Amino acid sequence: TDRLADSDPDLFQAIRSELARQQDQIELIASENIVSRAVLEAQGSVLTNKYAEGYPGRRYYGGCEYVDVAETLAIERAKALFGCAYANVQPHSGAQANQAVFMALLQPGDTFMGMDLSAGGHLTHGAPANQSGKWFKVVSYGVRRDDHLIDYEEVEAKAREHKPKLIIAGGSAYPRQIDFARFRRIADEIGAYLMVDMAHYAGLIAAGVYPSPLPHAHVVTTTTHKTLRGPRGGMILSNDPELGKKFNSAVFPGLQGGPLMHVIAAKAVAFGEALRPEFKAYAQSVVDNAKVLAERLVAGGLDIVSGGTDSHIVLVDLRPKRLTGKAAEATLEHAGMTCNKNGVPFDPEKPLVTSGVRLGSPAATTRGFGTAEFAQVGDLIVEVLDGLARSNGDNTATETRVREQVRALCHRFPIYPTL
Ligand code: PLP
Repeated sequence: TDRLADSDPDLFQAIRSELARQQDQIELIASENIVSRAVLEAQGSVLTNKYAEGYPGRRYYGGCEYVDVAETLAIERAKALFGCAYANVQPHSGAQANQAVFMALLQPGDTFMGMDLSAGGHLTHGAPANQSGKWFKVVSYGVRRDDHLIDYEEVEAKAREHKPKLIIAGGSAYPRQIDFARFRRIADEIGAYLMVDMAHYAGLIAAGVYPSPLPHAHVVTTTTHKTLRGPRGGMILSNDPELGKKFNSAVFPGLQGGPLMHVIAAKAVAFGEALRPEFKAYAQSVVDNAKVLAERLVAGGLDIVSGGTDSHIVLVDLRPKRLTGKAAEATLEHAGMTCNKNGVPFDPEKPLVTSGVRLGSPAATTRGFGTAEFAQVGDLIVEVLDGLARSNGDNTATETRVREQVRALCHRFPIYPTL
């Protein structure tokens, strides 16, 4: 047959193994989530066969009647979810959504401002290795040393001095609420555009448990696969239809060719799910769980960057236990808890080592973990890290003991039981 299991057993086995890995470990990577069967189904559909350059009703290919339905559903649901006038659901990723905004609003050589990678910003916000850092002049802002909150005075002073054409608010490892109104006042004072990259917070914003940037920003970009719990992809939102025309041209034909219609269909499914009342409860639970996790880690002797969290992100400073992010990521993975090493503000270690790990509650909350389970997860993390701190590098005994408890927890909250 032409079923994958028969036609390509090697690849089939890799997918089965990845499914088992996801089922049996606790996913704590803050940027990941576990999509529904419905999202998987849409993304694995025949829509992958279709070319549809252009936008609904204005395509460069025939046969777009039904993919137009899918894209229109995605657009209308995105607008309803975030209460905005314009949405482009075609960017293949968050990075490409950001690139499209740069293309629409900036010329190479222009100056823009974003949060430094080392303070929690994203690569695409002007890191030297990224196109954003190579093609534009970048002015970076950071967080304050004492409380790890965005230094709005620094943002203001640098904005006045350098007059960037665009200011970006948002990041990948900033656990706290961002004062979007304040960013807009700073942008207005110098006539800059305000772009908010809400990739991490999008699901929380859709559910109303984190402040929305849409009343403040000229443009909002996001990924669709983090707290929003959709397929991997990007999106651009705005309340300004005139700017919207520029973003549409920047995405296609500016940057991309044919949109991924199967992914857009899956975005529509995820947005439909996020419009339901259960999603509000989910998002509230994501934040409650992250707070409990942070509290347990503090009780266990770890530091939390900024002292806590207002979101799904818990950024752990491991220095009280004299551990590096690299070592902590590895030992936690052996114990069945997946996370990523992450720099902490003013980190003395190199980026491939770091003094921290970034944890997140979205995926485990999707599988049904509540505050009791997250308290347990916090205690297990402390147990593993204490084991490593005490050992001479070999933490196998603790890892093995905790791995069994992790497996038991996962079996109580199964995912994809019928896959
Ligand atoms: N923007 C932010 C704030 C992110 O955290 C990320 C991904 O981690 C991106 C953009 C890029 O998204 P993608 O990986 O889909 O390109």
